[in-house]
Amino acid sequence: MAQWTRRQVLAQMGLAAAAVHTLDPHELCCTMAAHAQTADKDLFELKKIGDGVYAAIAAPRYKTNCNAALIMTDDGVIVVDTHSKPSASRALYTQMQELTKKPVIKVINTHFHFDHTQGNESYAMTNPKVEIIATEQTKVNMTTPGAGVGGVPFIETQIKAMPADIDKLKADIQKESDPAKKKNLESSLQQAESYLQELKSMKLPLPTRTVTTTTTLKENGREIQLHVLGRAHTNGDLFIYLPKEKVVATGDALIDWMPFMNDGYPEDWINTLTSLEKLDFTSVVPGHGEVLPKNHVAFFRGYFVDLIAAVKKASADKATLAEMQTKIGDQLASKYEAAMSKYAVGRYRDRVGQNVEMIYKKVVQKA
Ligand SMILES: [Zn+2]
Ligand SMILES: [Zn+2]
Repeated sequence: MAQWTRRQVLAQMGLAAAAVHTLDPHELCCTMAAHAQTADKDLFELKKIGDGVYAAIAAPRYKTNCNAALIMTDDGVIVVDTHSKPSASRALYTQMQELTKKPVIKVINTHFHFDHTQGNESYAMTNPKVEIIATEQTKVNMTTPGAGVGGVPFIETQIKAMPADIDKLKADIQKESDPAKKKNLESSLQQAESYLQELKSMKLPLPTRTVTTTTTLKENGREIQLHVLGRAHTNGDLFIYLPKEKVVATGDALIDWMPFMNDGYPEDWINTLTSLEKLDFTSVVPGHGEVLPKNHVAFFRGYFVDLIAAVKKASADKATLAEMQTKIGDQLASKYEAAMSKYAVGRYRDRVGQNVEMIYKKVVQKA
C-alpha cells in the first residue's frame, strides 16, 4: 500500500528514529519513535490473514500502539488488544467499519500493558454490552500498583511522568538544527501533549470476564480458543488461537522486535513458547511488527536460550554487569542483530543491554 511504502522510506531515512532517546527504561516496552505526520487513518494497516480474520498492523507513534487482530463472527467483531489510547482504538474502529457494520462484541486483552489495554474504553462506548476478556491475573495486574507498565495505577504514573517528557521534547526541538529531525520532534511533541490529555480523561474498563485455564469460545460461525500456557512476557499472558484458520495472536510473548522483559519471566517464557509451538498454526499476529510465520517462535525462543546461557557463563566467569552487556551484545549479534533490528525501534542494540540486565537479575540473582 502506498502509505506503508512511504512509512518504510521514512524509516530508512532515519526520521522515525529521531525521538527514541526520550525513553525512560521503565517504559521501553512501549514508547516508540514518533512518525512524522501519520494521520489517524494511517495508524493501522489491515492485512487479511484468513477468512474474516485480519491483522491490524500498527504504524510507529510517539506512544506505541500494539497490533490488533480482528475476528469477524456472524454476531459481530472480536478485537484482540486495544493500543495505548482511545483515539487509536477509535481510529481502528473507523477502519473496521469499512469491513463490517456489525458491532464489536468482545475485546480480548492479551496482557495488562498500557499499549494493549488503554483503548478498551472506546469499544465500551460503542457497545455498552461489550465483553472484555483476559486472564484473571491480567485483571489483577490492571488494578495492582507496581504490577508493571499498565493498568489503572499506571495511568497516574504516566500523568506524573509526561510533563518531563514534554519539556525534554521542547528542549530537543530548540537544540535540533536538522529540519527533518526538528519536524519529527515537533510531531512527537504534539502527540505527547495530546496523549497527556487522553490520559487525564482516561477511564480504563477492566475485564468483565476472566479465564484461568484454556477455554474455547463457540462464537456464531467460528471457534476461538483462549490458551493459558504459562508465564512469559507477563504472569498473565493469553494466546488467541483459531484452529480452523491456523492463526494465533500472541501479544508481546512473541514480537518482531527485541523482547521487553521487565515484567517477564525469561525461563518460563522458553517453556511457554514451546507449548505454543505445539499448536497447529501457520500465521502469527505478534504484539508488534509484521505478521510472522510459525518458525519465528523457534527463532525468538532461541534468543532466550542463548541469552540465558551466555549470562550464566559470564556470571560464573565473574564478569561485571557492564562487561556482560558489551560482551554478550557482541557475541550474539551475528545470530540475532539483523533479524531483530527491522524497525525504527525495539532494535537489537537498543535493548540487548537491558535484556542482559534483566536475565542477570531474574535468572542469576533470582531477584
Ligand atoms: Zn506491547
Ligand atoms: Zn507488553
